[in-house]
Amino acid sequence: MSVSLNLARSGERLAQLLVQEGIKDQRVLEAIARVPRHAFVQPALIHKAYENTALPIGKGQTISQPAIVARMTEIILAANSKVENVLEIGTGCGYQTAVLAQLVNKVFSVERIASLQFQARRLMRQLDLHNISLKHGDGWKGWSSKAPFDAIIVTAAAASMPQKLKEQLKVGGVMVIPIGIEEQRLKIVTRTEEGFEIKDIANVKFVPLIAGDIE
Ligand code: SAH
Repeated sequence: MSVSLNLARSGERLAQLLVQEGIKDQRVLEAIARVPRHAFVQPALIHKAYENTALPIGKGQTISQPAIVARMTEIILAANSKVENVLEIGTGCGYQTAVLAQLVNKVFSVERIASLQFQARRLMRQLDLHNISLKHGDGWKGWSSKAPFDAIIVTAAAASMPQKLKEQLKVGGVMVIPIGIEEQRLKIVTRTEEGFEIKDIANVKFVPLIAGDIE
């Protein structure tokens, strides 16, 4: 059997694995089953593409673990009855971006490393995903010309809460963000009429959200 035939049903197997990890939202599981994760990893790692693990993508960065991609996606869908627009910080190879694109009207994503952003753009085109806008820039600043957003997903760990990102949420919108350096906690920030509510939900492990110049 060829590699491509072997991979054809692998997304479905990964989705089943995520059910065991506690992912319940059927829409998220279907999106995971549909997105070909093997297209996002380096050729030498294709055999690991449908395991529930983070993998290196070059430039010292990683493709996130599928369980955390699913969990963060589940959180933003649970918080909003209709998600029009989502901002992702840290496009990387674009896997989380592609999962979000299955589920919401429009995804905006910012990446600080130009070569990763370029590869992600090419891949999104190959996969025929057209409800995505990608930008090379510093995610600490968000994307103010496209704000406000129903949801923001930050896929790198911030040393402290990025104020500009909070301000780009709609009232009722949520941001899912890992905060910390060695010890990282996943937080959910909800914008209310009065201000912001912050919930602390789990220990996580992400690459750092780098402050300063873009590459
Ligand atoms: N969303 C990706 C995860 C990529 S890893 C996935 O689905 O697999 C996190 C990414 O955040 C890296 O590509 C890294 O370069 C990027 N990043 C780090 N600091 C950033 C910043 N300040 N602005 C934008 N992107 C940043």
